[in-house]
Amino acid sequence: MSASYQTLILGAGLSGLTVAHKLRRQDPGHRLLLLDQAERPGGVIRSHRQAGFTAEIGPHGFLDNCQESRDVLAETGLDRECVTASLQEYVRYVYLHGRLRLIPQSPLKILFAPLIPWPAKLRVLAELRRPVLAGEPTVARWAEHRFGPALLPYLDAVYTGTYAGDFDRLSIDAVMPGVRALERQYGSVLRGLLARARQRPKESGEGESGKGKGLRLPAMTSFPEGMERLPARLAEQFQPGRDIRLKVRVEAVSSNAGGWQVETTAGTFSGRRLVIALPVNRCLQLLAPLSPAPPATSIPETWISTVVFGFRDEVRLPPGFGYLAPEVEGRFALGTLFSANMFAGRAPAGHTMFETLVGGRRHPERVALDDQTLTARAMADVREILGIKSLPVYTAVLRHQGGIPQLERGYGKLLAWREAFVAGHPGLAVCGFGWNGIGINDMIKQATRVAATLGSAARPDGGAAELKGVYF
Ligand SMILES: Cc1cc2nc3c(=O)[nH]c(=O)nc-3n(C[C@H](O)[C@H](O)[C@H](O)COP(=O)(O)OP(=O)(O)OC[C@H]3O[C@@H](n4cnc5c(N)ncnc54)[C@H](O)[C@@H]3O)c2cc1C
Repeated sequence: MSASYQTLILGAGLSGLTVAHKLRRQDPGHRLLLLDQAERPGGVIRSHRQAGFTAEIGPHGFLDNCQESRDVLAETGLDRECVTASLQEYVRYVYLHGRLRLIPQSPLKILFAPLIPWPAKLRVLAELRRPVLAGEPTVARWAEHRFGPALLPYLDAVYTGTYAGDFDRLSIDAVMPGVRALERQYGSVLRGLLARARQRPKESGEGESGKGKGLRLPAMTSFPEGMERLPARLAEQFQPGRDIRLKVRVEAVSSNAGGWQVETTAGTFSGRRLVIALPVNRCLQLLAPLSPAPPATSIPETWISTVVFGFRDEVRLPPGFGYLAPEVEGRFALGTLFSANMFAGRAPAGHTMFETLVGGRRHPERVALDDQTLTARAMADVREILGIKSLPVYTAVLRHQGGIPQLERGYGKLLAWREAFVAGHPGLAVCGFGWNGIGINDMIKQATRVAATLGSAARPDGGAAELKGVYF
């Protein structure tokens, strides 16, 4: 058996790396070991650089409205490297009724925009009198019950853009726990939002730039060489072979009075404490043989493929971040990110570039298409929407490895099981892709909490239901 560590961390994606980074900040001598089956750290965060174009295989960025993420950037010096694009300055579009429509960046502003007819606006306001829906409704069912059908295409676009998901399957309690808490507390989301707005001057509210300055929209954050810089910088702190072991697959975990044992393809490792920072389904596989058994052995996952298109800059993209197409429009692609508009240097001089996203929960068969068919169909789709006549000078199809966890019906039971499981297994913490959210900020927040409470009596997982903004 290999030497005993203070903490074993399974998974060297963003979650595991953040836990390790925080533990080392607390105690520079902390004996920890990160284990990952991949050849490189960073998990699903991976940038693609070729022929002067920079695209993303995984995430394209994260919003700068999360204190824990800002802390990690400051602690690693990445705050001096990162590049930002404000949602305030860069518009987004929803493809609706056959054309791109510029959308305001908040549900309330959408409501008061001319996009929504007056009878539908009044129906939205009737939300104040709608009863709280019991059970675990889907996002679509819940939104229609509360606000009527007018906002549905916009919400569809939001959950296509974040989860590549199907809002007829995603659970509102799982993806918007803060909104559900508000609804339950005030009997209405609008009433709850108004109450919060009244309280806000007393607080230093998230996303606000201070009294009298109005609401500040967050900015999308990335790095000049792409998102991969974030995990790469975190991983630089750990010595290969001593602190981090790659190409090592974890196959089983068990505990005894002394701590935790981990069986891997490179032998057995032991540690006083164990952090499982793997995607939900990989974690469930490992914990299923232990007691109490989880209520489900897996949750649904979804995949997207990204088709990168480079053009000479005779092709003019509309200003802004890009567009999303709700399912009701029947488009081939989920949407397109105007990457060259978002961050400088994504395309070589004299060129522009965009990334078209295909697949998702509703169309897994499209992800399985070969590169040539995928590229041709995505091009035809975008050509019609953007009116592009020229041929691309560069194309690439990017396929990510890990699936995007879908927080659907039954997810609440899974979270409750994890809480109980962790409480019953001293020295264990569980975080990672799909636990309490799927975004980068969610992962950094959870990992920070795990590192702060590991080994103490405080519960590392969960936390109060947070009210998150909805951005396109
Ligand atoms: C296509 C895509 C687009 C996204 N876009 C955005 C976005 O724009 N903005 C945003 O905020 N978030 C986005 N996300 C989500 C974001 O990337 C994740 O929240 C985050 O990267 C998850 O990090 P993680 O470390 O928890 O999981 P992962 O990155 O999945 O890392 C888990 C690690 O565990 C390892 N592992 C798994 N099983 C084993 C095993 N048995 N033994 C050893 N190692 C194992 C894997 O190799 C991997 O390195 C996107 C995700 C995807 C897939």
